[in-house]
Amino acid sequence: MLVLLTNDDGIFSAGLRAIALSLSQIARVIVIAPERQQSATGHAITLHKPLRMERVDLDGAIEAYASNGTPADCVILGTVSDLPKPDIVVSGINAGANLGEEVLYSGTVSAAMEAALQGLPSIAISVAAYSDVLYDGAAVFARHLVEGLYLERPLPADTFLNVNVPNKPADQLLPPKLTRLGRRKYTNVLSKRLDPRGRPYYWFSGAPVESEGGEGTDITAVSTGHISVTPIHFDLTGDMTDARLPGFVEGLRFR
Ligand code: MN
Repeated sequence: MLVLLTNDDGIFSAGLRAIALSLSQIARVIVIAPERQQSATGHAITLHKPLRMERVDLDGAIEAYASNGTPADCVILGTVSDLPKPDIVVSGINAGANLGEEVLYSGTVSAAMEAALQGLPSIAISVAAYSDVLYDGAAVFARHLVEGLYLERPLPADTFLNVNVPNKPADQLLPPKLTRLGRRKYTNVLSKRLDPRGRPYYWFSGAPVESEGGEGTDITAVSTGHISVTPIHFDLTGDMTDARLPGFVEGLRFR
């Protein structure tokens, strides 16, 4: 089995190194990861400058490259270049959960999405903490999951798996649950400051203020100590059966 491994935290992240070592027990691993932090870059791809891949050494990988591209670029580089075609694409392990609508901003999740768009089985995996992150449990679970995906092929068409692991020692993790996306509400904090020349600049930040867990969601699974596995499909079409919408749209004046 050949695994293409990427992430959005960059080639030097501890989560990437932990999962590379773990997956190397069952697969040949090629790493192509951003040369620096690319969190929250979503599904951006690079069209207006050259993409580079610099060979680096990384334990567990048969080949590893640091790229100036985004996470989605890294998947494209690994699947469309002259490198051997992977059987499975893995993105992570991310520091910080990717729950609910965070999947829309996440570079980690978008890398797995890019693989799914290309028809390759893929997973994104994150641990729900930004500091003192415990990667061991997620690294072991990823190995079991990747092996199972390769042998049993359970993924429906156009679907990949978004995995979130509580930040707990491996022996305290509760069993995986198949979940749906919950909703997270964020504060949108925009700090306005002045640079040394007196010109304003803005620094965007935000934190989840409210999480709508609810039965069966990824948020509830992780908050109760379970590993969450959410199938993600890239068809974002909304509900077309809403009583008023078809008449509204198709009754619009258009000339
Ligand atoms: Mn990240």
